[in-house]
Amino acid sequence: MPTYEFRCNDCGHKVTLKYKTYAAYDEATPTCTHCGSADLTRLISRVAIKRSMLSGIMSGDLEDNDALSALDNADPATLGRVLREMSAEVGEDMGDEFDEVIGRMERGERPEDIEASLPPDSEFASPPAGDDLI
Ligand SMILES: [Zn+2]
Repeated sequence: MPTYEFRCNDCGHKVTLKYKTYAAYDEATPTCTHCGSADLTRLISRVAIKRSMLSGIMSGDLEDNDALSALDNADPATLGRVLREMSAEVGEDMGDEFDEVIGRMERGERPEDIEASLPPDSEFASPPAGDDLI
């Protein structure tokens, strides 16, 4: 179920809205569940950030991401170090799995090998089609 987070610009509350389908989200006008305002700013979830960073690296398709495009031919250790710096800038705890993936990159494991060893329900396994990537 598509879930979107917003910050209300009127009352400052963080609002989580769920939609039955992506089409429903496209047609809907998000409104604050606290004050009813439609003046909401979409928040990018940290899961989306993680997926954006790692799926680009895993797939080797970094052209769409300016921050990562320079790393297209970098070795895994460099990728791991840059990802760690990026996650520090995001300022959120990215979770144990993220740390493990980065740690393995820093030790020189290839992203393809790391992805292949992840459980199918991992956040970092290939995201399902239609997932909401930034
Ligand atoms: Zn509000």
